[in-house]
Parts: sequence; C-alpha cells; structure tokens
Amino acid sequence: MERPDSPSSPGSIVVVGAGQAGAWVASTLRDEGYDGRLVLLGDEPESPYERPPLSKDFLAGTRDAASCAVKPEGFYAERSIDLRLGCRVRAIDRARKAVVAADGETFAYDALVLATGARPRLLPVPGADLPGVCYLRTMADSAALRERLRPGLRICLIGGGYIGLEIAATATALGCQATVVEALPEVLARTMPAELSRVVVGRHRARGVTVETAFKTSEIVESGGALSVISQDGRAVAADLVVIGIGILPNVELAEAAGLDCDNGILVDAFGRSSDPAIYAAGDVTCHHNPLLGRSIRLESWQNAQNQGIAIARAILGNGAPYAEVPWFWSDQFDMNIQAVGAAETWDAVVMRGDPEGNSFAVFCLSEGVLVSAYAVNAPRDVRFARQMIAKGAQPCPEQLADPAVALKMLARAESSA
Ligand code: FAD
Ligand code: NAP
Repeated sequence: MERPDSPSSPGSIVVVGAGQAGAWVASTLRDEGYDGRLVLLGDEPESPYERPPLSKDFLAGTRDAASCAVKPEGFYAERSIDLRLGCRVRAIDRARKAVVAADGETFAYDALVLATGARPRLLPVPGADLPGVCYLRTMADSAALRERLRPGLRICLIGGGYIGLEIAATATALGCQATVVEALPEVLARTMPAELSRVVVGRHRARGVTVETAFKTSEIVESGGALSVISQDGRAVAADLVVIGIGILPNVELAEAAGLDCDNGILVDAFGRSSDPAIYAAGDVTCHHNPLLGRSIRLESWQNAQNQGIAIARAILGNGAPYAEVPWFWSDQFDMNIQAVGAAETWDAVVMRGDPEGNSFAVFCLSEGVLVSAYAVNAPRDVRFARQMIAKGAQPCPEQLADPAVALKMLARAESSA
C-alpha cells in the first residue's frame, strides 16, 4: 500500500463533523505540529462528546455532560482550532476546494476530513412518529429520555441490539418495567454467537426485563395516552414510552452528492483517503480497508472513532502508518461488562471458557482452527490476550482455550514463539 505523499503541510484543513472522530482528527493535527488554519464544523450545539455514556451512566443520571466531553473546556480555543458549533455543512464544492455551510458561509480547504458519523435507522411502520416514541443518538436525546424514566414506567425497546439492551438495563435499575422486542430469533445476532447472547438474555430476564424475539413490529398505536407495540403475528406490548434502536445509517449524503465513492459508508483506504486525494474520512461514516482483516469494514465503535481519527490526522501530514487494529468494543449491561475483539462474520467452532452461569467467563470463535473473535464477560484480561492472538492469526488448541487453568497469557506467548 502506497503511503500518502508527504505534502508540504496543507495550508488549511477543514473537518466536517464535530463528534468523537472529528475531535480526534483536529486535536492530533495540532499534537503532530500542524500550525495552519484548522476548522472543525459540527451541527450539534455541544462541544464534541463521547456517546457511550448516553445509554449508560449519563442516562442513569450518575454522570454529567462535562465528563462526556472528548476534550476539556477551552481545549479548542487554546490550540487555535476554529470550532463552529450549530454549523451544518450542506455541500462540498470539490472544484473550488470549499465546503458550504447552511447559512452560506464557505470554508476553503487544502485537505478536507469528513467525520459525519451516523444517524438512527428509522422504523418504517405506522405510529413510529407518535409522541412518546423516540430514538437515541445525541446527548439531547439522552437528556430527554432521562427526564421520562421513573419507577413503574413501562418502556418498550424496539431492537435487541446494544441500544435496546443497554437502555433496558439502565431503565430497569431506575425501577422501570422494560420490554425488549427483537425481530430476529436471537438478540445481538449480528455481533455475537448465540451461546453468548442467550446468556445475556438470561441475565436480563433474571432482572425482570421481558425479552420477546421473532417480534416483527408492524405498528405502534396510541389509545388513551398509552402506547401499544404490535407485531406482525398479533402480539402486543403495552408501554408508556417506546425507544427504537434498530441500527444506524452512515451520513454519506455530502460525500455522495460530491461524487465520492461510497458503499455502506465513504470508501477509504487504510490511510483514510477517499476517491478524491484531498478528501479523507474517519469514524462511523467510513467503510475502510483494514489490512489485518484483509477486507473493508464499517465499524460503529468508540475505539474506531478515536484511533482512526488519530491515524488519519497523521496520514494527512505524511506521518502516517496504515490504520490496522483488531476491532474492539464493550457494552455494560447490569453487572456485565462485555468486551469483544475481532469482527468475524462467520465461524465454525465456539469455545466456552469458564462457567457462563458464573460472574466471569469468555467465549471464543474459531474458523478453520484460527481464532477470529472473542467475547469476555467481566474478564478484561482475557480480551487483551485474545486480541494478540487474533492479530497474529493464531490457532490455539480449543481444549486449552476452554480450560481456565491454562493461562491465556501462556497461550498467546506460545503462539508468538510457534
Ligand atoms: P458521531 O459521534 O456520530 O459524530 C458525527 C458528528 O457529525 C455528529 O455530531 C453529527 O451531528 C455531525 N454531522 C453530521 N453531518 C454533519 C454536517 N453535514 N455538518 C456538520 N456536522 C455534521 N461504542 C462503543 O465502542 N462502546 C459503547 O459502549 C458504545 N455505546 C454507545 C452508546 C450510544 C447511545 C451510541 C449512540 C453509540 C455508542 N457507541 C459505543 C458507538 C460510538 O459512540 C460511535 O461509534 C462514535 O460516536 C462514532 O463517532 P463519530 O465521530 O464517527 O460519529
Ligand atoms: P444494532 O446494535 O445494530 O442493533 C439493532 C438491532 O435491531 C439488531 O439486532 C437488528 O436486527 C434489530 N432490528 C432491526 N430492525 C428491527 C425491527 N424492525 N424490529 C425489531 N428489531 C429490529 O444498533 P443499535 O442497538 O440501534 O445501536 C445503534 C448504534 O449505537 C450502533 O452503532 C451501535 O454500535 C451503537 N451502540 C453501541 C453500543 C456498544 O458498543 N456498547 C451501545 C449502544 C449503542 P438485524 O441484525 O436484523 O438488523
């Protein structure tokens, strides 16, 4: 893979999207010594913040907005980063090398970074726009939801993904009665093996969450102030509040309108370069080539937003190495800290390590003997060594993997020296 030319530092860099990825691009550019004009444009009113707390402790009311910020107050001004909030970019003029904001102001660039993130996928059924039906993506969404959560509230989560399950856990801890409805026969079916998702569901049910699977929502109706979520096969879930979490869509419209190549995200290489050499992209909006996985992937994670942002900033300045990491993410639900490494789409063997009924255990997925992903519940150390093995394409012995008496550290070491 060719490294980007080492440009004389671009005279002006514009970053569109002041989320986690955009903030890391801008801050890393300054950390790496870039001293040209640097503009960070975001359409939300808040300084860049991290979203994970929005379904966890910020939603629970135990964490404040300031502690969710990517960088502390004053950071951007101190580094001469021209941060414009409430500023929506409506077009990219590639011929003039400028972006145009909604109010008509233009920002010229030598290098442009698109970090426009994603938005919730809308549920196309009657009643999805009723009052009392909402989505969760922004801090404003989370603050509004927090206002509504109170003991005894019946909350229905449409979508048994991370949004649905994390809100169910947070709301239950606040005394709400939560029901999760998932269209597929299993929750979290796309991102974890059924052996683990069944354990996760079991823990939710044990805490009082109702989980309905194979529930294809056909309609939401309102009667006398109460909502009812109806499935195609005639089941009905009564609720005071409904939150829809059925996945996200990358915000590619600006890039598409400008003629950049897109396919499930803005297509970029491992240096974040799009089909226009002056335009880069980072974060949820990218479908990027991952040299470790040998394929292109669109990730929706905190790790990717931060580290791809850092890598792309370096690449713009010609200091770059390809962005190549084993994907990692975590989820907190009740007393479970679930961490996952790898991004396997298929596997042919699943190995359980430890007792899934106990507090801490791990699950490994192998494909033709190669470790392709791992999930650890309250076992973060296991994740560290699994990550090392996945990066090396290790083929650990399944019996040893399954045996908690065999330290993963030893297995990872053995694979290094094999
Ligand atoms: P975003 O955070 O979406 O930021 C993009 C920004 O660009 C937004 O502010 C958007 O409004 C703005 N924008 C878009 N278009 C324009 C435009 N035309 N002009 C100006 N601005 C524009 N990941 C984990 O790994 N672990 C977790 O536990 C976890 N929990 C999560 C909980 C919630 C509730 C959510 C929503 C996400 C969670 N994630 C988690 C995912 C993680 O937060 C995202 O992957 C990350 O926020 C992506 O960052 P980003 O900067 O690419 O995109
Ligand atoms: P998600 O994790 O992709 O899960 C969406 C779930 O809803 C999937 O199981 C999906 O099934 C299901 N679904 C789709 N259409 C449905 C329908 N009509 N009725 C019922 N279920 C339906 O997305 P999400 O939970 O909405 O989360 C949104 C974003 O926030 C993602 O980027 C996610 O990664 C991020 N987030 C991450 C975390 C974390 O990492 N801990 C926490 C919260 C949010 P299909 O597979 O069939 O589509």
